Amino acid sequence: ERTVQRIAAGEVVERPASVVKELVENALDAGADRIAVSVTDGGTSRIRVRDNGVGIPPAQLPDAVAEHATSKIADIEDLDAGVGTLGFRGEALYTIGAVSRLTVRSRPRPDAHDSVRGDEGDGGRTDVDVAPDAGAELTVEGGEVGAVQPAGCPVGTTVEVADLFFNTPARRKFLKTNATEFDHVNRVVTQYALANPDVAVSLEHDGRETFATQGNGDLESAVLAVYGRDVATSMIPVEYTVDDETPDPGESESSSPLAGTPIERVHGLVSHPETTRANREYLSTFVNDRYVTTSILRNAVVDAYGGQLAPDRYPFAVLFVELPAGTVDVNVHPRKLEIRFDEPAAVRETVSAAVESALLDHGV
Ligand code: ADP
Ligand code: MG
Repeated sequence: ERTVQRIAAGEVVERPASVVKELVENALDAGADRIAVSVTDGGTSRIRVRDNGVGIPPAQLPDAVAEHATSKIADIEDLDAGVGTLGFRGEALYTIGAVSRLTVRSRPRPDAHDSVRGDEGDGGRTDVDVAPDAGAELTVEGGEVGAVQPAGCPVGTTVEVADLFFNTPARRKFLKTNATEFDHVNRVVTQYALANPDVAVSLEHDGRETFATQGNGDLESAVLAVYGRDVATSMIPVEYTVDDETPDPGESESSSPLAGTPIERVHGLVSHPETTRANREYLSTFVNDRYVTTSILRNAVVDAYGGQLAPDRYPFAVLFVELPAGTVDVNVHPRKLEIRFDEPAAVRETVSAAVESALLDHGV
């Protein structure tokens, strides 16, 4: 079928980890403070993401899985600012439903959906025979959308994706081993857990818990949950803020390492130089709370250690860089996490200085 072929060739859903990414973003967009991710066979057999967010009213379930049916269109302008909604294309659930057996089960949070409460004669949606504040579910199998059914469930949304690519064998063939696919899932969920320490994020693989953060807002506690005690105890806090004061005209330009850079704040945690990995993937950087992979920021962190790292070893870092939206271009390509700074050299220098001063403060 043409739609399925087009989607199979598309870019939103490449592997289980891309499904997990979209579902976790939706859960965050829904204001959840608990997100439980559970996968089976690396996500190739089953992916389940449960949240306690605002939920979806039964009458809106068909819209949620329809093409280009985002409820977040008003937030598009926020995208450049790197705030507000994470995904806005309105195609994730539609795409996932075309290439899997998708079930969306949801119960709206009372009062969260004012527009659908008590409006009997709205837009011909009376075909859905479930009370607006009750639980309901909808299944899509290879693009075939079923009927909305009542379902008992707590407030929030559970999305289950079974048999990913069951109807697109060419795509399924590209999947790696379950262990490798889980590795990708783990990376995605880890980034969201670290970026959102105020959300309790848990991950389970084949019935065993991989990690579970507390959601108490404490970044160190999130690092402890995700990377374990040895890493957590070696972490050094970074907190670097530029002050807004107009510089004294007599003052030297270099008095603050942040002078002349667009950066407003650098904060997070970096590891002691003895706690390293042979892999850059534990060097997590976020720009305006969005996870990004860019050599500018990773190199900036490595630079700060000034030769104290063993060859080909990289520190752990969970580093948040904040700068005005106008000085950064986030590429919202579904698979890429790229970013372009207007002043990359200044950004690199400032981030490096911020980390270096934190290391110095801790005798490194
Ligand atoms: P987008 O996120 O770009 O709007 P999606 O296909 O990911 O598109 O989701 C479609 C719509 O379904 C969302 O706009 C939202 O209204 C609803 N939705 C999806 N997941 C959730 C969730 N976990 N909680 C509440 N609403 C959701
Ligand atoms: Mg989405």
